[in-house]
Amino acid sequence: MFNIVKGTHDVIQAEAQRYSYIEEVMTNVALNYGYKEFRTPVLENSDLFIRSVGDSSDIVRKEMYTFEDKGGRSITLRPERTAGIIRSMVNAKLFANQDYPVKAFYVGPNFRYERPQQGRYRQFNQFGVECAGASTIERDVETIALGYTMLKVLGFDNLKLKINTLGDKESRENYKAALKEYFSKHIEEMCGDCKERFKLNILRILDCKVPEDRPIIDKAPKIGDYLTEEARNRFEKVKSYLTALEIPFEVDSELVRGLDYYSGIVFEFHYTASNGNNYGAIGAGGHYGNLISEIGGPQIEGVGFAFGIERIAKVMEDDSLFPELANGVDLFIMPMGEKAVEFSFGLAYVLRNLGYSTEVCYEAKSMGAMFKKAERREATLALIIGEDELNNNMITIKNLGTKEQTQINLQDLQSYLDNFFDIELESADDSECCCHHEGHEHGECCRHEGHEHGECCQDDDEHEHHCCHGHGHCHHEE
Ligand code: AMP
Repeated sequence: MFNIVKGTHDVIQAEAQRYSYIEEVMTNVALNYGYKEFRTPVLENSDLFIRSVGDSSDIVRKEMYTFEDKGGRSITLRPERTAGIIRSMVNAKLFANQDYPVKAFYVGPNFRYERPQQGRYRQFNQFGVECAGASTIERDVETIALGYTMLKVLGFDNLKLKINTLGDKESRENYKAALKEYFSKHIEEMCGDCKERFKLNILRILDCKVPEDRPIIDKAPKIGDYLTEEARNRFEKVKSYLTALEIPFEVDSELVRGLDYYSGIVFEFHYTASNGNNYGAIGAGGHYGNLISEIGGPQIEGVGFAFGIERIAKVMEDDSLFPELANGVDLFIMPMGEKAVEFSFGLAYVLRNLGYSTEVCYEAKSMGAMFKKAERREATLALIIGEDELNNNMITIKNLGTKEQTQINLQDLQSYLDNFFDIELESADDSECCCHHEGHEHGECCRHEGHEHGECCQDDDEHEHHCCHGHGHCHHEE
């Protein structure tokens, strides 16, 4: 037995399906907002993060998985995505024609050597977006609205959106000076990390979670009192836009985020499950003023956020927010005897090519055991093939839901199944849209509103929102 690496976790079977569901919902909303997918490497040169995330951040100081590769380069497993995404935009010269903003979404694992605890892993998955070349308030609020919409579509109610502003450079300098004066009187009583933060980046002290330090931090000066007029107006505008969109929020003047590149608006999404579970922020982000130019791009600004898939999946499970995700197979073939096994082997290949998810029972020998397996596979129909059936070119079909059994000619099998699954779908969810693959790629063909069976409706504007999922038939997306 090998143990799993501390702080990592396996995402398997139903849990993996739930992660895919979250990612699919988020992807659809991101596409709706005009974002394009970016896939960047897990490995980056260490300097990228030291420059961007900042050498005063906990991430760079304590949490990066950094190693020297065989060529003597310092490489880091990405602890976050913004820096790599912006690097990829710069490398691909996406800013060259000044067609801003460049909008990216991404999904995948990040790595941080943090203390493992509830909702905190050393390898964790994020879904996030970056809108690069975005200096307007509208882009900031649009980005918050995008995150909010993703969570709403996933079924979240009672979300808590916390916002704050780190102001412009002048506001921050004034504020840092006020913090310096205040904390210089208290720093000796505070934790070792805060003593470090006092020297490296005093704003970080506001992030401290040590309970003994909190009363001191709570009495510290607030950024709101140090904003320049422009920064204050900007923040007021953000608030009025959020109000206009009916997105509830609260101002948290201690919210500073743990990454040095943020400036201007910062925000976090929080949610407490009805059983009281709260795994920390489920997503967070903000505006960045200088990151793009620091990574070699033009002097343009950006805004983005990242959601933690692990935390979102956990609270969704706690509050039963997941829809029932299809788990079973359409067909479960039960061969009785050696000849039937050979025949079933070929038949499964044909049925799968027709788009029906199919399992064959090669392992169990008795009917009873086969039915038990079919049940565990959550099969819809059992196809029973024995000596009699083979001799007469027949097939016995048992509906495992209703327990009805029927025998048909083998040559009628395809039309029987096409019929059965069409009818099933229509009666099950009143869907207008169904599809079978018949030589079409997955997701390509669809019958809907006058389209004939198998007719292709992808790229057909009218049917844009109808897509097909596995199992050889498709569901209405909504
Ligand atoms: P950050 O990249 O630190 O701004 O974090 C954005 C989101 O990623 C957080 O709100 C969490 O949901 C998630 N996240 C960050 N670190 C972890 C971690 N170690 N384990 C699980 N989720 C995390």
